[in-house]
Amino acid sequence: MTDPRHIPTDLPTRIQHYIDGQFVDSVEGGTFDVLDPVTNETYLQAAAGTKADVDLAVAAARRAFAEGPWPRMLPRERARILHRIADLVESRDARLAELESFDSGLPITQALGQARRAAENFRFFADLIVAQTDDAFKVPGRQMNYVNRKPIGVAGLITPWNTPFMLESWKLGPALATGNTVVLKPAEFTPLSASLWAGIFEEAGLPQGVFNLVNGLGEDAGDALVKHPDVPLISFTGESRTGQIIFGNAAPYLKGLSMELGGKSPAIVFADADLEAAIDATIFGVFSLNGERCTAGSRILVQRDVYDEFVERYAAQAERVVVGDPQDPATEVGALVHPEHYDKVMSYIEIGKTEARLVAGGGRPEGFPTGNYVAPTVFADVAPDARIFQEEIFGPVVAITPFDTDEEALALANGVKYGLAAYVWTNDLKRAHNFAQAIEAGMVWLNSNNVRDLRTPFGGVKASGLGHEGGYRSIDFYTDQQAVHITLGAVHNPTFGKTDAA
Ligand code: NAD
Repeated sequence: MTDPRHIPTDLPTRIQHYIDGQFVDSVEGGTFDVLDPVTNETYLQAAAGTKADVDLAVAAARRAFAEGPWPRMLPRERARILHRIADLVESRDARLAELESFDSGLPITQALGQARRAAENFRFFADLIVAQTDDAFKVPGRQMNYVNRKPIGVAGLITPWNTPFMLESWKLGPALATGNTVVLKPAEFTPLSASLWAGIFEEAGLPQGVFNLVNGLGEDAGDALVKHPDVPLISFTGESRTGQIIFGNAAPYLKGLSMELGGKSPAIVFADADLEAAIDATIFGVFSLNGERCTAGSRILVQRDVYDEFVERYAAQAERVVVGDPQDPATEVGALVHPEHYDKVMSYIEIGKTEARLVAGGGRPEGFPTGNYVAPTVFADVAPDARIFQEEIFGPVVAITPFDTDEEALALANGVKYGLAAYVWTNDLKRAHNFAQAIEAGMVWLNSNNVRDLRTPFGGVKASGLGHEGGYRSIDFYTDQQAVHITLGAVHNPTFGKTDAA
């Protein structure tokens, strides 16, 4: 590229942990490199947390839980602070987007949308916690039962590198709204935006020790958090394989677990669908956010009557997607997050070339000799046993497969280990709803792009997750629902155990 890059001003070169209201280095002094995805040069050093740092962070969060005001505040008092956090995020959205885009390689316009969604998450859970009521059940003169909803303690939050700030807000919002204290372990590829939470929370008036941040590698800091006996629940978003490891490590403690994992979601396009709308939405669904989107419709199943037309139009549109510097507002696909991930995506493209017909992209785009740039890539005639059909690639790569009948479409849709999202394109209302019923996916979009109201559940089935968050499900996950029972009249069986021996 010839244009000089836009480098954010005041870019930090060093990131620390944030424990008990203080920025601190790692106890053992370690750091790790964070790379600029456009040049792959190290641009900052982040503190590499180990068990020693996690122990300090958990102890601080535990103290704040046991002794501090946060869990004891009225919901509306906590809500006021959460709204202030949302205000602060909104007032800094441009800066957040600039840093997020620089750190992760996401196009800046899309990073801006994610920053605003992060603010929305805080507003939503602030309002929800105020509106939250649990039923009391009364049998007049006999008994009353009610639910005592209590924060659980220290919540361990482990997050991935795709849309990092927004996904952190998705856990921080409900965990804090319900009165827990937290230790956040953000992804090691993208620690920059997470470091901004500390300043935002301080300014908003969150009490000391409620929010703690430990940077570091998954197998060190993440592992220590999962195995810490004083952390009763873990909310994790990341790869299915990592989810399995965490599941095993949390088992001896019987921790509460919520897992948002990988996906290989189908978009099914029937011949009767509005093809233009289906193409626009499926292009956006797999290439926006660089294809690094858990709910990407990365397998497109197309009914044979319109298959050739679909493939031709889809490939032509994919070729027109604008690849460019993440900081350029015209960019639609930026640079992948890290050279390791770039290598993984590129290796799948090479595998795809041996398994299917390449119709667009297929490697590094012209004019981008360096950086983690991948041309939007489309494979057609992909067989259901192909690796690019079965395995999550998590980049701008899509597999298109033809089908004839509804039964075949359903078998193809369900024929992978994942079950996160599905998209159905048809003008037949009955078929659309029948497919929604039959598809093994936590979320289904009918003739729709990826819109989601925050009140609805979010989560996957099969290898895509465990449990649901979103709306009241998040409140349920982050609280104990203790049932309290009181007898208002006489106790039952007043003669039990009083019978005289014969
Ligand atoms: P990852 O599993 O490699 O890492 C996620 C987080 O887990 C990181 O913070 C990492 O440091 C930590 N980690 C790694 N090993 C650990 C261990 N042994 N113990 C504790 N923590 C550990 O995932 P990633 O590559 O960062 O993210 C991409 C994946 O996330 C994709 O599979 C994507 O589909 C998935 N994802 C899912 C959703 C969803 O809502 N379902 C959303 C976004 C991303």
